[in-house]
Amino acid sequence: MTSTTTSADLFARAQQVIPSGVNSPVRAFGSVGGTPPFLTEAKGALLHDADGNEYVDLVGSWGPMILGHANEQVVEAVRAAAGRGLSFGAPQPGEVTLAEEVVRRIGPVEQLRLVNSGTEATMSALRVARAATGRDVVVKFAGCYHGHVDALLAEAGSGVATFAMPGSAGVTAATARDTVVLPYGDSEAVAALFAERGGEIAAIITEAAPANMGVVPPLAQDGVGFNRFLSETAHAAGALLISDEVLTGFRASAEGHYGIDGADRSWAPDLMTFGKVIGGGLPVGAFGGRADLMGLLAPAGPVYQAGTLSGNPLATAAGLATLEGLDAAAYDTLGRASSTLQQLVADALTTAGVPHVIQTAGTLFSVFFREQPVTTYEDAKAQDTAAFTRFFHAMLEGGVYLPPSAFEAWFVSTAHSDEVLDRIAAVLPAAAKAAAR
Ligand code: PLP
Repeated sequence: MTSTTTSADLFARAQQVIPSGVNSPVRAFGSVGGTPPFLTEAKGALLHDADGNEYVDLVGSWGPMILGHANEQVVEAVRAAAGRGLSFGAPQPGEVTLAEEVVRRIGPVEQLRLVNSGTEATMSALRVARAATGRDVVVKFAGCYHGHVDALLAEAGSGVATFAMPGSAGVTAATARDTVVLPYGDSEAVAALFAERGGEIAAIITEAAPANMGVVPPLAQDGVGFNRFLSETAHAAGALLISDEVLTGFRASAEGHYGIDGADRSWAPDLMTFGKVIGGGLPVGAFGGRADLMGLLAPAGPVYQAGTLSGNPLATAAGLATLEGLDAAAYDTLGRASSTLQQLVADALTTAGVPHVIQTAGTLFSVFFREQPVTTYEDAKAQDTAAFTRFFHAMLEGGVYLPPSAFEAWFVSTAHSDEVLDRIAAVLPAAAKAAAR
């Protein structure tokens, strides 16, 4: 039995001074129960907690740690940057290089602004879209999470899904009224809404591939990909498409993006958002897109947006070192680790007779505890979360740290070597059996 005494003590202390003991809801283990391990150290694919337990990590800080924890190049870049000063609140070379790197790799991004989180990125992109169109309404999809932006919390995935919340208290009725939520992938619902209210709509925001209700790849209808359909529908009505690549960006594919058809330049999102990987584990988000839209930002334009720590030199150093480490070989390694793990999980669950479906978007994947494919949030919610909970705890007990929610992607890194995957493989049969009970 894994000892959790120190974590339990820390959790009790935390609950006195931090709401629910955590600084982000899903960390509290609310939906799976038990004590969250308080982590003290991480290296490569391994985590260590305050009780001396070691775990194979499949959370990767929810995405940023794509090169594994404490990657030497990334840590050295941060150490060197720290020696030169922690924050200037003034322009610094690293932010130029990071922006140039993103602009070079992501076709539709002509200009980019750095912020401190994915939430800030989507919030700011929305503000630009509303200013550019002079319209208020934003369309989002059920199960898509875009951070805790007031306007975007309705039927959001991630923690909102984990705790079965319809949205959030504290969001004004007027804000909620300006957000229309549609079922993911439902082209007809999108077309009907635009036919009725197209002139009021500022933007559609979508995850390039939803990954916060589990992974739900966009599907083509009549040969037209869903993201392309959204772009064409929005543009026909004078609205914009915001593609949220906070989670997929620089992870799902070697191209750096998922929501653009690389070969086809006849359509593109107008604005895109990034985060996670481009900060390499430090707080970074970014939004960017067409230069005419980004030109609306202050000081040149009328859209105010700012940040004391935006473009922070440590954060840009970590992000740049991470992007530098992500060469073709790194994406190969990531892809191999992802598919090997998917196969191991599928084999174990199949052997134990546990209904499951594994869905992928590039190297991203998640496991749903139900038989049928998941194409909407309703489908995702119809999985056997109790089976997941049993599976989760058996994995944790066996030394594998999964996302503590049935609605999240599993994150591998380039440090998930065969040896690490073997450790997971050794635990899977018992966890699958636990899920089957
Ligand atoms: N957008 C997407 C697609 C995300 O997955 C997330 C976070 O998980 C966000 C936005 C919000 O990012 P952050 O948690 O950095 O605010």
